[in-house]
Amino acid sequence: MKIHEYQAKFLLSQYGIPVPRGQVVTEPAEAKKIALELGNKVVIKAQVYAGGRGKAGGIKTANTPEEAEIRARELLGRRLVTQQTTPEGVPVSKILVEEAINIRRELYLSIVIDRKTRLPVMMASEAGGMEIEEIAQVSPEKVLKAYIDPPTSFQPFQGRRLAYGMNLNPEDIRPAIELMGKLYQLFLAKDCSLAEINPLVITMEGKLLALDAKLNFDDNAIFRQQDLEGLYDWEQEHPIEARAAQLGVRNYVKLDGNIGCMVNGAGPTMSVIDLLAQMGGKAANFYDTGPAPVPEEIANAFKIIADDPSVKVVLVNIFAGMGRGERYAQGIVDGYLQSNTKLPVVVKLSGTNVEEGKRIFAESGINYSEAADLHDVAQKAVEIAKGKRGGKS
Ligand code: GDP
Ligand code: MN
Repeated sequence: MKIHEYQAKFLLSQYGIPVPRGQVVTEPAEAKKIALELGNKVVIKAQVYAGGRGKAGGIKTANTPEEAEIRARELLGRRLVTQQTTPEGVPVSKILVEEAINIRRELYLSIVIDRKTRLPVMMASEAGGMEIEEIAQVSPEKVLKAYIDPPTSFQPFQGRRLAYGMNLNPEDIRPAIELMGKLYQLFLAKDCSLAEINPLVITMEGKLLALDAKLNFDDNAIFRQQDLEGLYDWEQEHPIEARAAQLGVRNYVKLDGNIGCMVNGAGPTMSVIDLLAQMGGKAANFYDTGPAPVPEEIANAFKIIADDPSVKVVLVNIFAGMGRGERYAQGIVDGYLQSNTKLPVVVKLSGTNVEEGKRIFAESGINYSEAADLHDVAQKAVEIAKGKRGGKS
C-alpha cells in the first residue's frame, strides 16, 4: 500500500526524523495562507503516487505568498505525467506547501526487503536526488548496502560504514547514523515494504533533513496497522473505486474483463466470476449488494458499473431474501435510467417479491432480458459480451 509524501513525512517526524515545515492543502488560497505562515520562499509539491515529479513540473518554488497561490493553481486539479506514470498521468488533488530549503548536499537512503537474502537491506548513496535510478544502473558501486539481521537489528557499525561511505563530514556522521536507526525502527514497526528518503539533504546550515519521503506498506500486514488504514488514496490509481466510495457504494471491485456483475453475497459473487471464466467470459467488476439493499445505493452502483467503458453487458444475479425483489429491481432500473445507457442487462431474480421485481423490469423499458438460473444468466452474459447475441431476447 502506498501513501502520499506528506503522510510519509508525518510518520518520519513521529520517529524523530527531521522534515521541512509544511502543510498539505487542496485549495490555491490555502497555499497562500500557509506560505504566509511559513514566511520566506516556499516549495509547492504535487502529492501523487509517482516519483519523478521534479523533472515533470510537479515541484515548484514560490518567492511570495501570492506566487504560492499562482503555482498552486497551476498544479491543483491537473493530471501530472512523470517518467513513472502512465501517459494519462495521476490526478493532483493535494499539494504540500513547505519552507524552501537551501541544499548543500543531496543524499539517498532507503530500506527495502531483499528477496534473495530475505532480509531488510539499507541502501545509501552520496549521489541522491533525481538521478538515483540511473546511478544505480550505471555505477552500482555508488549505492552502498547493509543487510539487516532482524534479531540483532540495525547495528552502529553498519551505520558507520554507510555514513563514511557517503563521504559525510565528521560532524554529520553521528546524526546520520541515528537517522538510519530511526528509519529502520519505522520500517519495522509499520511493516513497510519500502522506506525511502530521496533526497536526504544536508542543508546549508548543516542540518540533516528528509526533503522527500516515500513509504510503502506490506498489504498483508495492514490489518495490524490500524493507524494506516484509510490513508490509501484510491483516486490515484483506482479512479472508479474512488468514485464508488464517494457515492457510498461499498463492496465494489474493478476487474479487467467486460461483463459487469451485480450479485448479492460474497459466495454467489465468487461463483458468478468463476462461472463466467469457465464459459470463456470475464468479469469487468463486481458489486456485492449485501443482504439489505438500499435502492439508492443499488442505483449508484449500477451507474458505476454502466459508466465503465469496458463493460459490454451487465449481469444481475439476485436472490432476494430479507432484501425484497422490488427494491433491487427499482434500484437497478433507476440507475439504468439515470446513467443514460443502452447496455444490455441480463437478470436472474428470485426470492421474496420476485413477481413485483419482474414487473418493475418489464415496465421500465430498459434493455434487459431474463434468465432462468445461475448457469443461464452467466451463459447469456458471456454470449452478449462476445457479440454472439443481441441484448434483447
Ligand atoms: P521527486 O522528483 O518526485 O523525487 O521529488 P523530490 O521531492 O525528491 O524533489 C526533487 C528535487 O527538487 C530535489 O532533489 C531537490 O533538488 C528539489 N527540491 C525539492 N524541495 C526543495 C527545496 O526546498 N529547496 C531546493 N533548493 N530544492 C528542492
Ligand atoms: Mn525524490
